[in-house]
Amino acid sequence: MQTLIMATNNEHKLREIRQILGSRFQVKGLADIGCNTDIPETSDTLQGNALQKARYVAEHFGVDCFADDTGLEVDALGGDPGIYTARYGSINGYGDSHDANANIRCLLDKLSGQTCRTARFRTVIALVRGGKEYLFEGRVEGRIVQQLRGTQGFGYDPVFEVQDTGLTFAEMGPEEKNRLSHRGRATEKLVSFLTSQ
Ligand code: IMP
Repeated sequence: MQTLIMATNNEHKLREIRQILGSRFQVKGLADIGCNTDIPETSDTLQGNALQKARYVAEHFGVDCFADDTGLEVDALGGDPGIYTARYGSINGYGDSHDANANIRCLLDKLSGQTCRTARFRTVIALVRGGKEYLFEGRVEGRIVQQLRGTQGFGYDPVFEVQDTGLTFAEMGPEEKNRLSHRGRATEKLVSFLTSQ
């Protein structure tokens, strides 16, 4: 069985990818290889940050590795929050980094009075395997609603309505969300690449 490292400490992401890849690949997280470093993410693109994380692990630990980076891009805000999605609230004085409520309040305030509310989630997965680099992208189009709807999911899910569904991510079950989501689509591309080799 081949071993791949996912450059994350997020148990939810690890469980999800292990379920998809089944017995063909052994996927380990950063803790499993003793990597406790806060890996730098200094690029101004999702692709750059995903590559930076995957390269760091491949170079320092001599293993094949993949990493993901996700951003919410709102058209009326010129593509923001983009690479700042996780800490949008905190950089605008709304609360702590990674605080979903602060992020949502900040976003809704920025869009106050805006009629154009189209947006997309984009995930880029970078894979470094056998010294070669590969990129996989998934995206989902939608719009930012005025009022929070739904109780499932995480992050911006209660305010992101998926195009053609009339539902926010927070109003969907995990299976439906995974089928439509940015991360689900990028992961699908990674998995079909890995399983076709
Ligand atoms: P990450 O790159 O996966 O850490 O995602 C960056 C940030 O994007 C997270 O902190 C969340 O705020 C947001 N985010 C990523 N994926 C989703 C999602 O599926 N729903 C809602 N928010 C998300």
